[in-house]
Amino acid sequence: MSGILSGIKLQESGHDDYVIYEKADRMGGTWRENTYAGVACDVPSHLYSYAFAPNPNWSHRFSPGAEIQAYFEKVARDYGVEERIRFDEEITKCEFKDGRWHIETSKGSSDVVDFVIAATGVLHHPNVPDIKGLEVFEGDCFHTARWDHDVPLAGRRVGVIGTGSTAIQITTALADQVEHYSLFQRTPQWVMPQENPAYTESERENFQEHPEVMKEMRGSMAQMFEDTFATAVVDANSPLLKNIEDLCRKNLEENVSDPELREKLRPDYRAGCKRLIMSDGFYDSLQRPNAELVTEGIEQIESKGVRTSDGRLHELDVLVIATGFRVDQFMRPMAVIGRNGTQLEEAWADRPTAYLSVTIPDFPNFFMLNGPNGPVGNFSLIDVADLQLGYILQLVEKVESGECREISALAAASEQFEEDRVEAAANTVWVTGCNSWYLDDRGIPAVWPWTFHRFRERMASPDLSAYEMVG
Ligand code: NAP
Repeated sequence: MSGILSGIKLQESGHDDYVIYEKADRMGGTWRENTYAGVACDVPSHLYSYAFAPNPNWSHRFSPGAEIQAYFEKVARDYGVEERIRFDEEITKCEFKDGRWHIETSKGSSDVVDFVIAATGVLHHPNVPDIKGLEVFEGDCFHTARWDHDVPLAGRRVGVIGTGSTAIQITTALADQVEHYSLFQRTPQWVMPQENPAYTESERENFQEHPEVMKEMRGSMAQMFEDTFATAVVDANSPLLKNIEDLCRKNLEENVSDPELREKLRPDYRAGCKRLIMSDGFYDSLQRPNAELVTEGIEQIESKGVRTSDGRLHELDVLVIATGFRVDQFMRPMAVIGRNGTQLEEAWADRPTAYLSVTIPDFPNFFMLNGPNGPVGNFSLIDVADLQLGYILQLVEKVESGECREISALAAASEQFEEDRVEAAANTVWVTGCNSWYLDDRGIPAVWPWTFHRFRERMASPDLSAYEMVG
C-alpha cells in the first residue's frame, strides 16, 4: 500500500526517476500475504482507500481482503506504477557511501540512489509460538499469513490458536464450514459490534456518477474515526473510551446467552487496551453447536491434536496458528548501514526508534513509511503513510534545492521525541493492564500516543531545527 502510494506521489511531484523493489512476485503487502478465511479490513472501505483514488465498486462497508488486493493492483496499473516495480527482487543491503545509498539485491544486482523510502510494512514476519510439540502434529498446520488453500476444511476438525483480530475473523468465516471448530483462547477480547451491509447496485451507481458523494463520505468517516476511536485510545480517562467500553460490554451481555461462556469471554482489562476487535458474527459463530471455546492453557501439541492443561486431547485435522507477528522488524533483515558505517542493528540495539517515526539520526536521506512508533493503533495506515510521504517530500526538497546534501534527524531531537512520547504514553489505554503487540520490551506502547490531529499537524511541515543538514 505505501510503496504504491510512494510511486504515485513521486511521479506527481515530478520525481520520475524511481524504482520500486518488491521481494515477492506480486504487489499488495498485507493483502497479498493474508488470504485466510474471512480476511477483511475493519476500517470502512471508503476510508481504507487512497484519498485520490476513490472506488465506487466496494461491495461492503468493510470489504473482503481479495477486493482490497484487487483495488491496490488496479490503482498501481492505472497510475503507471506497476511497470516501475521490480518483482522478486529483495533489497538485501543498503549502505550510505560518498553521499549516496548503494543498494544490493537478492538477484545480485546493485544500484546507487540519492534517497531511500522504506515502505516495508509492519505486520509481515509471522510469530510462530514456541509451543512444545508443534512439529509433531500429523495434520495440516499453517500460520494465518501463510494460509494453505490446498488444505480442505469442510467436514474436518479445525483448531485455531489465538484470539486477535485475525482469529476472530476466521472464527466468523469458518465455524459453520467445518465439522468441529475449536478456538484456543489465552486471553479474552472485547468485541465491538460492527454491521457490515453490502452496498446496493444503485448506491454503487450513485458513487460512480457522483464521486463527490464518496469524497464527502470518506471525509465524514475520517472525522468520526478521529473524533471517537483515535481520541479515546490516547486518553484512558475520556468519556469516549467509557462509551466504547459500554458498547462492548452490552454486546457481550446481550449476545452471549450461556452465562458460563459469557464469563469465559469476559476480559479483565479495559476495552481498547489490546487492539479492539470489530465483529458482528463472532459471538454467534462461537455459540454454534459444532464450535467450542477452549480456555484451558495449551500444554503441548501432539501428533493427533492439542493437549490442554486439564489433560484433554483436542483431536484435530487442521491446526491454524493465529498468533500474530513479530512487530519490531520493519525493513529488517535488510542490512542498513548509515553514515560512518553506523549499522541499523546498532542504532536499534535496544529497540526500533525514529524521529516522528520517519527518520533515524545518522541515516541521511533514508525515510520510513509506517515506521517505528507511529499511529499504528490509531488510524487508517493509508492516511498515515500519505501524511508521512508529504512530510518526506519536503525533506527531499531541501536536498534537491541545494540547501544541503544530506538530511536526517538530529540525535538530540530524536531522543527528546522519544522522551516526550514515553511520557505521553502513560495516558493511553494501551498501558491500562493488558499485554499486546503494541507494548515494547519495557511495556511502553510503541505507538504514537497523541491525537491524530496532532499527528497531522506535525506532518504538515518539518521543524528544521530538529534536523542535521550537511553540506
Ligand atoms: P495478535 O493481535 O498479535 O493476536 C495474537 C493472538 O495469539 C493473541 O490472542 C495471543 O494471545 C495469541 N497467542 C500468541 N502466542 C500464543 C501462545 N504461545 N499460546 C496461545 N496463544 C498465543 O495477531 P493477529 O490477530 O494476527 O493480529 C495482528 C494485527 O493485525 C492486529 O492487531 C491488527 O492490527 C492487524 N489486523 C487487522 C485486521 C483488520 O481488520 N484491520 C484484521 C486482522 C489483523 P494473548 O492475547 O494472550 O497474547
